[in-house]
Order: sequence, then C-alpha cells, then structure tokens
Amino acid sequence: MTLTAAPAPLTFSRQLTDRPTPPAVRERVLSDPGFGQHFTDHMVIIDWTAGEGWQSARVQPYGPIELEPAAAVFHYGQEVFEGLKAYRHSDGSMWAFRPERNAARLQRSAGRLALPQLSTDDFLASLRELIAVDADWVPGGDEHSLYLRPFLFANEPFVGVRAARRASYQVIASPAGPYFASELSPVSLWLSTEHARAGRGGTGAAKSGGNYAASLLPQAEAQRHGCSQVLFADPSTGRIDEAGSMNVFFVTQEGALLTPAVTGSILEGITRDSIMQIARERGREVVERDLQLDEMLDGIASGAITEIFATGTAAVVTPISRLADRDREWVTADAKTGPVARELRAELTGIQHGRIADRHGWMHRLDR
Ligand SMILES: *Cc1c(COP(=O)(O)O)cnc(C)c1O
Repeated sequence: MTLTAAPAPLTFSRQLTDRPTPPAVRERVLSDPGFGQHFTDHMVIIDWTAGEGWQSARVQPYGPIELEPAAAVFHYGQEVFEGLKAYRHSDGSMWAFRPERNAARLQRSAGRLALPQLSTDDFLASLRELIAVDADWVPGGDEHSLYLRPFLFANEPFVGVRAARRASYQVIASPAGPYFASELSPVSLWLSTEHARAGRGGTGAAKSGGNYAASLLPQAEAQRHGCSQVLFADPSTGRIDEAGSMNVFFVTQEGALLTPAVTGSILEGITRDSIMQIARERGREVVERDLQLDEMLDGIASGAITEIFATGTAAVVTPISRLADRDREWVTADAKTGPVARELRAELTGIQHGRIADRHGWMHRLDR
C-alpha cells in the first residue's frame, strides 16, 4: 500500500517591526477606523515558484513591496483575493467566520486565473500568524472587526501571455468600524443597462481584481445618479447578476427569498450561503433560480416583492429600497429597511460577534 503524503504545512518566520504604531495612535484609529484606510503593523508573505512550490512563509513589517515593472500582474491582471473579518468576543478570544470557505474560494479563484493554489491549512495558518502579532488591532464591540485581505498575484517579470511561474500570496489587515453610521438605512441601486460585470464563461465566479476594475465605470455612473451601487443584469438575457460587489435577494409577499442561482457568473458569497441557511432554519422558503430584471421590477411595482437586500462580508446585509434607471424608479412599498433584512442580519452578526450561540460550528478560533 502506498500512502501519498500530504504536503507538509508551511512554517512561518517572524520579523517584527521596530516601529510599531504607538498604542495611543492605534486606539485613535480603532475608535473611528472607517473602512480600508488604516493597516496594521505587519503582513504575511508566501512566495511561490513553479519549480519549488510554496516557500519562505513569513510575517514581516507592513510596508511597500518591490516588484519589477515587468511583473505579470501589471500587464495581464493575474490576481485574485479574499475578504474576511476577525472578531473579538467579549472574553477576549478572536475568531473568523467560516474561513475554510474563503480558503476554498481562493483556491477556485486561483484555479480560474491560472494561479497556484494554497492549501486550506496554510491559508488558515497565515491568518493565525498575522493575528498573533497584530492582536491589539482586533477591536471588540458591536460591529467592529479587523478586516483581513489575503491576495495572490503573478510577480514573474515576464511580458508574455502565459500563466506566470512566480507568484506571491500576501495578507494585510485593516480595522473596520460600523458600516452603517447609526440606523440600518436602505440604499438605492442603479440599473446598468450598458455594462456587464461578468459574462457566461468569464471570470465572474472568481474573486479577481479585474472584475472590480470592470465595475468602476458603471459604479461612478450610479453615484452620479444618487445611487450607491449598481444592480448588474446581463445585457443580452436580462438575468440579474449581483448588486455591485454583493449578492442580491428579493423577498416575496409570502416571505420567501429569491436569489440568482450560481451559474458561473455570480460570486458565491459566504454571507449569501449563511443567510440562505439561517432563513431556511427560520422556516422561510429560499429559491435559487434565474431572476429576470423585468420580473423583479414588475414585482416591486405590484407589491409582490416587498423587500430587497444585498449580502457581503463588509456590510453583512444591506437593505435596498429603490432601483432606478435614466427614466424611472421602483421603490419598495414602505421604502424602509424591511423586517426580513433586519432579522437575518441580527442573527448573523450575533453569531459572528459571539452574542448568539454558534450552533453551526461556523466560527473558527484564530488566537490558538
Ligand atoms: C466578495 C464578493 C461577494 C460577497 O462574498 P462574501 O463571501 O459574502 O463576502 C459578492 N460579490 C462579489 C462580486 C464579491 O467579490
């Protein structure tokens, strides 16, 4: 009998910064972090080459990285990323929410972009390593967290069209405060008719920077029209895709949830999956299918659709009360945050922050 040895887990070296952020400055940042503006003192880097595989796993001071101008990522956009949060519970322990799902998704995204796949164990270890040195940056309290941003890109200096033979996996972290200033207030979505986020057979299911680059122009158009995000629908089929960088749900009069089925152009959100599971456990019907934009707009107009919301790690559940295009607008019946969005968000954030028992085993401890 032959046994195939699992690849040995990587061991990380640690180089600590000699200029850590003074505690008073850190506390000031943590009291009003905004989103994605401040970064912790350290970062993780793991190198990869086609010949040697993953190597030189390390924690080092956060700071500029050196890349050759010919690095492949600059020319053909070979890049994927993840986004998840570390939460501090009231007993001081630190946790991530379903991080093995992020590991698996990074592997799928990497596969689609012809980048190497980091094992789930090494991915989880990279988060623990960063948390071990930057623990003081993980805030406690309602709605506060440390946003973790793992990313992977081709750094081989080669201007030619093929999968790069050198890549770099890195993790940075940024404290995040409440997404909604006070009340959970609903947003408007702009109906982009001209631009698509993703297409059949494309990279829509991969968490890749290029998908975001393609969304910035319609996103700017949305903002010019007083909308905070774009609702993307396939211009040729009319099928609803996503709301900006979030998955979208429609609630029917009967209390059922409708959401676009995962067909290859939609990013499979971990929040989406968790919200579907919680909703089902609460006795709601959840239907994943093709959703036509016209059908949903008619439903809002007739009252058959009573609520709309979007899901993603950053804001968890974002209520939506209004859709608009150049000529018309569609507003949900009471134009307020609906009870379904509110109830599902409260349960999910309760689990994440340790206020509600984790009966699914979704939380993964990071500080041991
Ligand atoms: C990350 C992302 C989401 C949300 O995924 P979560 O795992 O819930 O954070 C949705 N759509 C797009 C395009 C994304 O990149």
